[in-house]
Amino acid sequence: MAEATLAFIGGSGLYDIDGLSDRREVTIDTPFGLPSDDIVLGNIGETSVAFLPRHGRGHRISPTELPVRANIFALKTLGVERIVSISAVGSLIEEIGPLDIAVPDQIIDRTGSRVATFFGDGLVVHVGLAEPFCAELSEHLMAAAAEYSEHVHAGGTYVVIEGPQFSTRAESELYRSWGADIIGMTALPEAKLAREAEICYAIMALVTDYDVWSQSEDDVSVALVVANLMQNVETSKSVIRSLANRLPSDRNCACGSALKDAIITSREVIPREAKEKLFPLVGKYLD
Ligand SMILES: [Zn+2]
Repeated sequence: MAEATLAFIGGSGLYDIDGLSDRREVTIDTPFGLPSDDIVLGNIGETSVAFLPRHGRGHRISPTELPVRANIFALKTLGVERIVSISAVGSLIEEIGPLDIAVPDQIIDRTGSRVATFFGDGLVVHVGLAEPFCAELSEHLMAAAAEYSEHVHAGGTYVVIEGPQFSTRAESELYRSWGADIIGMTALPEAKLAREAEICYAIMALVTDYDVWSQSEDDVSVALVVANLMQNVETSKSVIRSLANRLPSDRNCACGSALKDAIITSREVIPREAKEKLFPLVGKYLD
């Protein structure tokens, strides 16, 4: 039986969650090393939940250094079927303001220093990513968020930059010209790896500020950004409880069979080491 079916990965400011019954913590080692931190397990209502602070408690790990493969693999081995990422972002458009919530439906990859697949070493897999987020999970997430915010934006494009520096003004204007709506540093490779692990993935993006394109704004003070971040963290804790209580246990999306037609390597030439290492991901297709 699964230790947890629904996982939350907490971003900047969100290092723990409230209201868990039967709370416990587990250390999980994976073929990709240790996750960002120990994983918190417990129940919210009828739902078994896992929580992982993305940057580690105390915020020790930069976006580029995140052990994303270990994080997703560890959640997979716990039985997790759905992941909700909670992330602080900047806004690239006027209509999405500070303290608003966006649930994006598209993504642009501007990272460059991250391993974005579990596969290789003799086992080649090409999953589809036309729709990078789970629409079903996103719908439930938006409904839960709407209980706590009048400013929930459905859809939109999240541009993921490598960081750790923020964008230049020219880059920010470039992303705006591409039609991007919000900007952050962590949605990838999480979304790609979740798809490879056949786990539903959705993002609750909480806006702290307008990115540097907004020259009309006075220079936003760090104090204001931090105050917004703290308020967003409180909102996200409420949304987490609401979502866990409202989410039906069965999935009606295609995420759970993302690898069905994606394994291109002939079964008979897949190395034994790859099969063993990736058994939690591909075992059901290799019989
Ligand atoms: Zn799904």
